[in-house]
Amino acid sequence: MLKNLLRTLLVYNIFMSFNLSYADNILLIMAPEVRAVKAVETNEVMVDIRNYRRIILDKKGDWHSANYHMVRKTVAEKLEKAALALPDGVCILFKEGHRSLGKQKEIFDWYVDVLKKRFPARPDEEIKILASEWVAPPLEDAPHSTGGAFDVTLIDHRGIEINMGSIVDDTSENGVARNKTYSDIISAEGKKNRKILIEALSKQNFQNYPFEWWHWSYGDKYWAYHNKTNAIYKSVG
Ligand SMILES: [Zn+2]
Repeated sequence: MLKNLLRTLLVYNIFMSFNLSYADNILLIMAPEVRAVKAVETNEVMVDIRNYRRIILDKKGDWHSANYHMVRKTVAEKLEKAALALPDGVCILFKEGHRSLGKQKEIFDWYVDVLKKRFPARPDEEIKILASEWVAPPLEDAPHSTGGAFDVTLIDHRGIEINMGSIVDDTSENGVARNKTYSDIISAEGKKNRKILIEALSKQNFQNYPFEWWHWSYGDKYWAYHNKTNAIYKSVG
């Protein structure tokens, strides 16, 4: 327990001591200025995304929390509107909504280990910052823990994932560059399909995380920072 607390404080201090808006001017999801945003909980309920039209829940993976199919009510309603605006036959494949803080920690620690093996000479502090480009540290305002953040892609009428230029959660060395929402190293088809997703979700005032074309949110601190307002969802555990 104490070890966990110390680890959390260590990561927090690392984030407070760096200017993290360094990679392609992308603001990290847990940058100090984002974490500093005030959150005023609205106590909005969580709902099951399977009850909304043209949204298909992806199968459960080992890395998913029990409630990975749940998001806040407004998020589900907006996502349904985005889905209904997609071209005929195209649906949203919902990969993950709520993620518990315990699961967040497991995934973060796993990715830190992957990166340590990939860059053995880099100091731990640097590794943790690199890791946080892809997965938020397990701090209390981690976006997926609020029910405001979700990961999605598109599927066609046969239920096959549409080519988006890279696969969701590609953590390979080359994946990092392809996963950036506006990556210029992906195919023209991938760019075109990403544009469809970006337009549908942006229209509903969802905020994308530019390191990951599939990650969007509403009501969490990252969304609030870009909308110059308070966050309305805190962690639900
Ligand atoms: Zn995500």
